[in-house]
Amino acid sequence: MDFKFTEDEEAFRRKVHQWLKHEIPQRWTELDPGIWEETEESWALAREFQRKLGQKGWIAPAYPKEYGGLELSHMKRLILSEELAYNRTPMSIEEEITVNWVGPSIMLFGTEKQKKEYLTRIARGDVIFCLGYSEPNAGSDLASLQTRAVEVGDEYVINGQKTWCSYGHLADYCWLAARTDPDAPRHEGISIFIVDMKTPGITVRPLINILNRHSFNEVFFDDVHIPRENLVGQKNKGWYQLVIALDLERSSIGYAAGNQRIIEELIKYVKETTRNGEPLANDCLTRNELAQLVVENEVARMMAYRIAWMFSKGLHPSYESSMSMVFVSEVMRRTANAGMRILGHYGELDRDSKWSVMNSRIMRMCLSSLSIGVGGGSNEIQRNIIAIRGLGLPRR
Ligand SMILES: Cc1cc2nc3c(=O)[nH]c(=O)nc-3n(C[C@H](O)[C@H](O)[C@H](O)COP(=O)(O)OP(=O)(O)OC[C@H]3O[C@@H](n4cnc5c(N)ncnc54)[C@H](O)[C@@H]3O)c2cc1C
Repeated sequence: MDFKFTEDEEAFRRKVHQWLKHEIPQRWTELDPGIWEETEESWALAREFQRKLGQKGWIAPAYPKEYGGLELSHMKRLILSEELAYNRTPMSIEEEITVNWVGPSIMLFGTEKQKKEYLTRIARGDVIFCLGYSEPNAGSDLASLQTRAVEVGDEYVINGQKTWCSYGHLADYCWLAARTDPDAPRHEGISIFIVDMKTPGITVRPLINILNRHSFNEVFFDDVHIPRENLVGQKNKGWYQLVIALDLERSSIGYAAGNQRIIEELIKYVKETTRNGEPLANDCLTRNELAQLVVENEVARMMAYRIAWMFSKGLHPSYESSMSMVFVSEVMRRTANAGMRILGHYGELDRDSKWSVMNSRIMRMCLSSLSIGVGGGSNEIQRNIIAIRGLGLPRR
């Protein structure tokens, strides 16, 4: 089996790499926001960078040309994702949600009008979506969601509450799951809508995350009127669309490349650091831990490649996405924990301390990595999916 990229693909990687070298703003590098750490300033920088990326056609490179893409192969899309993640480009998680989860769902289930209206703007980096799935009593058990959408004439009227809505305060649209038939079995009465976040009746309230930043929100819908044409796909068949959109969410392919960069920085640190008169690189436990992380991260990378390969063959990753998500999220947690052990008490210091090392990245990652195996469905739920869909085991 030959895992090598073709010469054309390698040339594409070099092209992306060169472009990024000149285009990542200096201010972004100084701010160095990790995942879930955006501030108003970093968000503005990220949006500006997105538009530049959009002008190159590199936001949604695999989209069809008629919807603003370049129709590049899924392998080139993977290469681009890897380069963006490794080089810590100004990308927000919402960009990923919009381009790789919402966009493909619109492509699969949207009307021609919706495709023309939203996909081209997504591909230019002009619009951002947030996800309105979770509710106070519907997380893992998403099918128990209670937000109602009632059809009245040419409109739907929405009432209810969503929670954990990432970047709902900054998004242009919400990709909303709401109940359209309360009398049907739980999975049968749900529909998907596109809701303009500026519609009257929407209230967004901040929830502060583990990094003491505002990334989550509660979103309240009080008699929110939206046009009937904002229904995506078939009424009451939204659950099946949701399952596919969630598989797309879980197939995120940039994580292993971002983690590789951290592991490389840890290796550099142990080579340059002496502790108790001994180079840290001589410590057996440290060497073993780093070697183990390199092996595991390479496995995570191969799982991501498998997903890209499936996309390239027109296959839909299902339990394979869950496998990839469980594995890479746990490798990221192990990397953060190993990093904290290697750095010792220096690792606990925040960026404002003169003794902090690696820009406190490991400590920040230790906190943010806790959430990676929860958002988009917890790792317990992913394991249930692998057991049921992958192994054919009974539901109970
Ligand atoms: C960083 C982050 C970003 C998020 N962004 C969004 C967003 O943008 N939009 C959105 O709608 N939601 C978002 N969420 C919410 C996320 O989808 C939910 O947190 C997740 O689905 C879990 O639901 P819950 O928090 O209600 O936990 P619960 O469902 O209450 O689960 C609690 C615990 O019980 C376990 N558990 C529950 N059921 C089972 C079962 N059947 N088998 C085994 N174990 C089980 C879970 O694994 C978990 O450990 C985000 C969450 C995070 C952490």
